Amino acid sequence: MMHQMRAEYGAGGEAGGVRLWHMVRGSQSVAMCGRELDPAAPVREAVDWGRTAELCCHTCGAYFLRETPYLASEHP
Ligand SMILES: [Zn+2]
Repeated sequence: MMHQMRAEYGAGGEAGGVRLWHMVRGSQSVAMCGRELDPAAPVREAVDWGRTAELCCHTCGAYFLRETPYLASEHP
């Protein structure tokens, strides 16, 4: 199953910048942790998980690494 990262904006919406990166399945706008994200928020390739300047959601990370062990091995 394909995953991608989707941004959660901080206070002030888009102008406030990215507060946190979540992981979503496919092109959904609901994160794996259950948080609803702006469908227009920026997305990134799943391989960028843990490599962004902004923080990544810990809950999403736990689900994601469980579903994609081949990536988990790169990010112990
Ligand atoms: Zn999340």
